Amino acid sequence: MTDLTTRNEFIARHIGPRAQDTAAMLETLGFSDLEALTASVIPGSIKGTSVLPAGDGQSEADALAAIKAIASKNKLFRNYIGQGYYDTHTPSPILRNLLENPAWYTAYTPYQPEISQGRLESLLNFQTLISDLTGLPIANASLLDEGTAAAEAMTFCKRLSKNKAANAFFASQHCHPQTLDVLRTRAEPLGIEVVVGDEAAISDASAFFGALLQYPASNGDIFDYREVVERFHAANALVAVAADLLALTLLQAPGEFGADVALGSAQRFGVPLGFGGPHAAYFATRDAFKRDMPGRLVGMSVDRFGNPALRLAMQTREQHIRREKATSNICTAQVLLANIAAMYAVYHGPQGLARIAQRVHQLTRIFVRGVQGFGLAVEQQAFFDTITLRTGAQTTALHTNARASGINLREVDAERLGLSFDETTTQADIEQLWSLFADGKPAPDFAALAAEAGSSLPAAQLRQSAILEHPVFNRYHSETELMRYLRKLADKDLALDRSMIPLGSCTMKLNAASEMIPVTWAEFGNLHPFAPAEQSAGYQQLTDELEAMLCAATGYDAVSLQPNAGSQGEYAGLLAIRAYHHSRGDDKRDICLIPQSAHGTNPATAHMAGMRVVVTACDARGNVDIDDLRAKAEQHRDQLAAIMITYPSTHGVFEEGIREICAIVHDNGGQVYIDGANMNAMVGLCAPGKFGGDVSHLNLHKTFCIPHGGGGPGVGPIGVKSHLAPFLPGHGHMARKEGAVSAAPFGSASILPITWMYIRMMGGTGLRLASQMAILNANYIARRLEEHYPVLYSGEGGLVAHECILDLRPLKDSSGISVDDVAKRLIDFGFHAPTMSFPVAGTLMIEPTESESKEELDRFCDAMIAIREEIRAVERGQLHADDNPLKNAPHTAAELVGEWTHPYSREQAVYPTRSLIDGKYWPPVGRVDNVFGDRNLVCACPPIEAYQDA
Ligand SMILES: *Cc1c(COP(=O)(O)O)cnc(C)c1O
Repeated sequence: MTDLTTRNEFIARHIGPRAQDTAAMLETLGFSDLEALTASVIPGSIKGTSVLPAGDGQSEADALAAIKAIASKNKLFRNYIGQGYYDTHTPSPILRNLLENPAWYTAYTPYQPEISQGRLESLLNFQTLISDLTGLPIANASLLDEGTAAAEAMTFCKRLSKNKAANAFFASQHCHPQTLDVLRTRAEPLGIEVVVGDEAAISDASAFFGALLQYPASNGDIFDYREVVERFHAANALVAVAADLLALTLLQAPGEFGADVALGSAQRFGVPLGFGGPHAAYFATRDAFKRDMPGRLVGMSVDRFGNPALRLAMQTREQHIRREKATSNICTAQVLLANIAAMYAVYHGPQGLARIAQRVHQLTRIFVRGVQGFGLAVEQQAFFDTITLRTGAQTTALHTNARASGINLREVDAERLGLSFDETTTQADIEQLWSLFADGKPAPDFAALAAEAGSSLPAAQLRQSAILEHPVFNRYHSETELMRYLRKLADKDLALDRSMIPLGSCTMKLNAASEMIPVTWAEFGNLHPFAPAEQSAGYQQLTDELEAMLCAATGYDAVSLQPNAGSQGEYAGLLAIRAYHHSRGDDKRDICLIPQSAHGTNPATAHMAGMRVVVTACDARGNVDIDDLRAKAEQHRDQLAAIMITYPSTHGVFEEGIREICAIVHDNGGQVYIDGANMNAMVGLCAPGKFGGDVSHLNLHKTFCIPHGGGGPGVGPIGVKSHLAPFLPGHGHMARKEGAVSAAPFGSASILPITWMYIRMMGGTGLRLASQMAILNANYIARRLEEHYPVLYSGEGGLVAHECILDLRPLKDSSGISVDDVAKRLIDFGFHAPTMSFPVAGTLMIEPTESESKEELDRFCDAMIAIREEIRAVERGQLHADDNPLKNAPHTAAELVGEWTHPYSREQAVYPTRSLIDGKYWPPVGRVDNVFGDRNLVCACPPIEAYQDA
């Protein structure tokens, strides 16, 4: 009989290998079934700790219907709240060809420049856009949000100010309130005093190492900051200015009135409100400070042929985040959103942006003239798009009436309210607003007011300098041109839509289309983060359910979804630990134990949380050296705050001693932070909250299917045991007000549907199977490759967890071939490189994930084995020691048509296996010269002549 139920086919769609493949792989490994393999991999001491209930997930159609029902509980109001978040039109070709296009959203962070030239070019456009608008020469390729960018600016000023004696940071009362909250959170553990006040009243700035101003001010005023900046500079303090990018198209740039740093959000350049995120923040500074800049910087270099090529500048610094010497712990940033903002500028061009800004300003002016006609007082003389109205006793009634008409105004205080206008504002909106404020008076004549010439921008601060003169901002203004530009850039890159990305510790798994679809629904996209709570019932349900799902997956008691990346989760987790110790009067505890093998963000984060890092050793098998750990825990028992440990370890092994490690730390008064970036090996099998962890972050952009976006967005929620729950991040718009680590209460809320969909469709049963398949795939690769490349670490029985490390150091000695050479040669085979030289120099770390099919795993193993054959040929002298396909990799199409002087053939160079003829990836540049790029830092689009000369 025909099966008439709606079957859940999703689990089998998400998981790569078919049943017969699974059987074959298990046989290769000598196991009869998956349960037997799992039982051999997971240590007995933690087996069975998972509390994830079994259960089948929902079909894709049913889950989409369920999330649609949740989404429709959100109410879409017209928002005039502003405060750093503005409605915007995402241009349709950008929505379809970038935001919704897997070629863009499934890419990884561009550490491998040869396969990332497309998104690197787009990020260089972003940097150029920011540098132009802010009037500062160096801009990075995005930070997580405006609040954290301001906090980065604060510590940046502290490092670089010559006023070394000062320990206070001035923050203007005109800054956005959420920015002040994030500053306070970040300042406290570092012992920095944040002084909020009126900059005009500061005559002696000698107490300050730096200052933050907002331009235009949060309430709408446009102040002339020149004298203020001089006063701070006179005291050797640095000045950071949080600036609105759209306003900067018309106003004098912060760099032109002396700012040392400009920062802010690029949200209103085409990125939906999304209930607060994800949005790209920007950060720009003077040339002299470029080497201290937080976040990633794209720079120009040259490739092997001397042609211009892009890359991440000072990459080694970034990759290791300089551990305890770090200037910031930012790893995942907001690349996808930065690319949207950059393309918005590319599409509109300088005139288009200025036209949008002028129109917003004129609509604001027309509105103001209208309400002045009603006798209402407007507080601003000079304004751009935001104003504050004195509404006196009417204020509450006005808010009530506005809401009844589907409108949100900004709540200022009992006597005043605010409005911000944006690109989406229309004449009808203005007329509707007038009707709210008219109080029986006749409606103003829109056309008559619009015909009045004039501007409320301050004449002395109008922008004189040109913006966006580079050809890239002046060429792609038709949709056909933009569509092809986006396609051209995407075609230069390798993302998951072309081949496996075997990056260890990054979990580049499938980002299923059904998971992605709700992200661009208006019901999730068009909510302002500070809208009244009753409008976001859908989000409330989504986040409540997701928190419960993540508690079940981890064994923790409470979850905060606020942190915008793993690094921010680490930070929120350590703050919770710190606050917990302090709440018990235990305020001497500031030592954080971190094993040698830790990811660079761990020590960087501990440092930001005001902790002192004590590094503990690893043994020859890559495990934590328990004796060393015990000795250090006991030595510091009166100051021990925490251990940060990654599980399974960054070495890809389930350490047997994890329970003992947790017990040692607890016995000495510390808390256990388990870095959950490797959760993909554990979901449904064991639970960190049940085997000793007090707190963990998860990377939803690793284990839980949020795409990497080419280097962000991400979400780094933390799970905690109940005793830490009171210390989870708060927010001005939440019950607990203190401890905000992000500008918005739910961080990157609009991408949470991805994880909700994944968990809903997989169910407990599917999630558990995914972990088992991830382990199977990793062990299958390890087994196939181990006779060619030794697997560095394994657990009992020679098995690895969900990733494996191949040791290439002996090959370097026998052949001169390095990990770099192998990584670049993989490009010729159409693969992204594995993680290089982390956590051990001279090794490759491979994580296949459960989503890769056996065919793809075999294709990858075949490539690795073919490369090993080439290395053998070098060892035997059959290939030249220096002029060989490995040293010269990757090979471009262009070099084939030139004179061929190499001692190996063109075929061997570009078609090392025949199967590549059916679908070859051609890298647009040859191997990129890293040293040249760092010596000659060029971080904005060079003038077009520079390309021609080169
Ligand atoms: C990826 C990763 C992090 C950092 O996460 P981001 O989201 O990039 O900030 C931290 N620890 C480990 C072990 C990781 O793999």
